[in-house]
Amino acid sequence: MSKIATPEKTSEYLQRFVEGVERRNPGELEFNQAVFEVAHDIFPYIADKPVYHDRQILERMSEPDRIIIFRICWEDDDGNIRVNRGYRVQNNNSIGPYKGGIRFHKSVNLSILKFLAFEQTFKNSLTGLPMGGGKGGSDFNPKGKTDSEVMRFCQAFMTELHHHIGPNMDVPAGDIGVGAREIGYLFGQYKRLTNQFVGVLTGKGLEFGGSEIRTEATGYGAVYFMDSMLGFRNDAVDGKTCVVSGSGNVATHAVEKINQLGGTAVTLSDSSGFIHDRAGIDEEKLAYVKELKEVRRGRISEYADKYDATFHAGKSPWHVPCDLAFPCATQNEISKADAVALVKNGCIGVSEGANMPTEQDGIQIFLDAKIAFGPSKAANAGGVAVSGLEMSQNSARISWSEDELQRLLKDTMDNIHEKCVTYGQESDSYVNFMKGANIGGFVKVADAMLAYGVV
Ligand code: NDP
Repeated sequence: MSKIATPEKTSEYLQRFVEGVERRNPGELEFNQAVFEVAHDIFPYIADKPVYHDRQILERMSEPDRIIIFRICWEDDDGNIRVNRGYRVQNNNSIGPYKGGIRFHKSVNLSILKFLAFEQTFKNSLTGLPMGGGKGGSDFNPKGKTDSEVMRFCQAFMTELHHHIGPNMDVPAGDIGVGAREIGYLFGQYKRLTNQFVGVLTGKGLEFGGSEIRTEATGYGAVYFMDSMLGFRNDAVDGKTCVVSGSGNVATHAVEKINQLGGTAVTLSDSSGFIHDRAGIDEEKLAYVKELKEVRRGRISEYADKYDATFHAGKSPWHVPCDLAFPCATQNEISKADAVALVKNGCIGVSEGANMPTEQDGIQIFLDAKIAFGPSKAANAGGVAVSGLEMSQNSARISWSEDELQRLLKDTMDNIHEKCVTYGQESDSYVNFMKGANIGGFVKVADAMLAYGVV
């Protein structure tokens, strides 16, 4: 095809493309969902840019460069041999080394990691930094495991993974179930196996090459992004009631930044339910949550035993009336019904701290209601942006100050916001940030791929 495509032809090509992806990736629901979300915006954009069709750019982007799957054997504290499956999906390294987190969760499978690696490719491009897209993990369930079991698992995982990563090849980071403790064990084992102290992981401790505000960056960035979206409408986070899901790294730092910007966060959750604290989760209560989750590894329900709050078992917080929503737990946590409830109850903005937390028909509800909707690949890019800056600091063997990094994070989120406005503003001036992020992320990777020829 080399002529400009009509709208009818464009939907026919999109349909054919989607069918092809589904045929090649049967049963991989999350991966197919992520590719469709992107393709839906890219096909109309490239309708008058036939070179992208001719060179099959989106087809190539949606087929990972390679996938490594391996067995992980480790011994638990009782001497039992345990077997898990490990993965690394190296999706696309056209604009830099593969970069993306490692997830340890019992639900991990190939579809989830392929969707995350695909999304990561666009997100990393949006940051403006030279990073390709990848993702990895294991179906290992860290819940209830002792420190030494987690250490032995991480060492066994890295024993295989170290063959496939490196500071100029693939630089993993944390994700669900992989925080400072796990990154320390993983980095320690990489160093032992290779006898090299290099920036092969990000999210490291400050003592061994980590960067200031990397831990905070994803949650902070998601709130900055919301503030930019609202700023575009002459509004701000200040004074707003916010619902937040999750109680891990992204959620707690989102609450921290909401507080700093004058908002009030009234919910947090985990996989057992959510707490609702009408008075707001202030600094002291947040310090309690961090200790509860990071040190004691307890359940969020304990919050309601300690403070004047209610606990809602097995529920998510989307039916609590709010101005702003920050989903920061996991994928597909906001259904269509949840989205309808949010809009009906007066929510004017959603910024996705988690990856792909809103189901496709939920997104449509937000777009139809024309609320400020910040999709994950834009809104949560702050984490990987500071990871990119950690890589730069490691290469140059320097460390930047916290103030400098705060400024760089804020600038990055503002730049991503601007890119989304450039590609996503519609004729009635509503900004479709989903479209803006998809096209804004696509262009740089696509043009690099064109430059390489057929590889
Ligand atoms: P954490 O492991 O620190 O926290 C995850 C939180 O989400 C926990 O409260 C956990 O509850 C909850 N959760 C996980 N799975 C489910 C589920 N199926 N149902 C309900 N709650 C669930 O992870 P992060 O905060 O790092 O990551 C959260 C999200 O943000 C993920 O989507 C991740 O991909 C995304 N993200 C993270 C980045 C980072 O820098 N860490 C960067 C960009 C995106 P419980 O304790 O009960 O499991």
